[in-house]
Amino acid sequence: MSDYNLIINGEKVTTGETFPVINPATEEVLAECPKASADTVDQAVAAARAAFPAWAATPDEQRSSLIHAIADKLAEHQGELMQLLTLEQGKPAAGFANLGAGFEFGGTLAWCHATADLVMPVEVIQDNDDARIEVHRKPLGVVGSITPWNFPLLIAIWHIIPALRSGNTVVSKPSEYTPLTTLRAIEIMNEILPPGVLNSVAGAGDVGAAIANHADINKIVFTGSTPTGKKIMESASGNLKRLTLELGGNDAAIVMPDTNVAEAAPKIFATALINNGQVCAALKRLYVHEDIYDELCEALAAIASSVTTGDGSGDVDFGPVQNKAQFDKVCALAEDARASGARFLTGGEPLPGAGYFFPVTIVADIADDTRLVQEEPFGPILPVLKFSDVEDAISRANDSTSGLGGSVWSADVAAATAIASRLECGTAWVNNHAMIQPDAPFGGVKQSGIGVEFGRYGLEEYTSIQTLQISKS
Ligand code: ADP
Repeated sequence: MSDYNLIINGEKVTTGETFPVINPATEEVLAECPKASADTVDQAVAAARAAFPAWAATPDEQRSSLIHAIADKLAEHQGELMQLLTLEQGKPAAGFANLGAGFEFGGTLAWCHATADLVMPVEVIQDNDDARIEVHRKPLGVVGSITPWNFPLLIAIWHIIPALRSGNTVVSKPSEYTPLTTLRAIEIMNEILPPGVLNSVAGAGDVGAAIANHADINKIVFTGSTPTGKKIMESASGNLKRLTLELGGNDAAIVMPDTNVAEAAPKIFATALINNGQVCAALKRLYVHEDIYDELCEALAAIASSVTTGDGSGDVDFGPVQNKAQFDKVCALAEDARASGARFLTGGEPLPGAGYFFPVTIVADIADDTRLVQEEPFGPILPVLKFSDVEDAISRANDSTSGLGGSVWSADVAAATAIASRLECGTAWVNNHAMIQPDAPFGGVKQSGIGVEFGRYGLEEYTSIQTLQISKS
């Protein structure tokens, strides 16, 4: 039995099987989660399919106001959802620079409201004596959403809300590491939505694969690793599912010699360590000009030495790494960097005792070919690399198969902007990193993904174009 429910056609569904969800701060079982079978996935897709015609035909303003109502309803459950986030994901309520569970919850509401207010007006291409040609946006049908464990609530909202806003129905599967907040939020959202419009299933990669392969799903929106994104792309070919893939990144930042180190260091630190470094578009490779290298290393190390890592249920800056596999990867990357002769300014060893705790670790004098630089660590460890020539820094920054975000830091904004535009990435920031907002498109180039999320551009990915061509003569 489980205290948590899948929701199919507006009804709570119990399944025969459950799987344990672990609290990463204690390594104890937090709860049992219902596990979907292939049959459960079929039922969820059938419910979404049946609900689609009426939802697609619902007036646009009504869908908009229902989405505002969803945000208000979620807000009533803020305490409960934030607590669940901390228990299953590990992040503290406030945390460093207030970027913890409260930040995720605030983003959830902001994205709901902003997306509710988006519109996709009919575009008139031609209107003369010969013909009128209009471009209409139509919903695709049933959208399958597959989400990761770093932002269980916010990323589910990023998928679900634009899908619903544009008239699609949804089957959502959270990560098996962090299913509870998502399932509970979907249960709450169903108090507002008609039955079948939003359904949930839970389980591991096999349940995700059943969604990606399903002949009655029209689109997959996926946030997760690049290898899994590739598998989903393959599965999606069966019925030519539309895809939005938000995959891994190994974002580079270039810090120019005229940068004010005292001002930039806290911002660089926050954008690298946000969510304990478990963010696809966090700053992950820091290239610093030799003139200010030592000063910036010292400033970052000073901040890192002043922060606390511990159980997110307490008053700490950073919680645990979310799961054992990721924790083991962070430990292995640190060990490999140490063996290569890199200089550890802080941290470097897991904390003793239960829980997947790894302290904030700043690594200097590290070679480009080290695993920590080449692979996305997705944890609280930052390599700081030195450059003397900006052309060399740009080519090292671009020497990656991924291309999600990148940044340039400088007192000369115009010069920094010119360099930023040469970074091979979906978003390039100047004097910032990892900052996203609901009206600015966000997505990756190269192997960081396909398509974008957010704003009008993101919304359009949940639609197909119908061109209406009306002859007048
Ligand atoms: P991570 O390694 O960070 O957990 P994944 O990309 O493996 O990232 O997981 C992200 C999401 O993708 C999770 O919800 C997971 O269950 C799901 N998933 C894993 N394998 C597959 C697959 N073959 N097809 C579809 N979804 C999958």
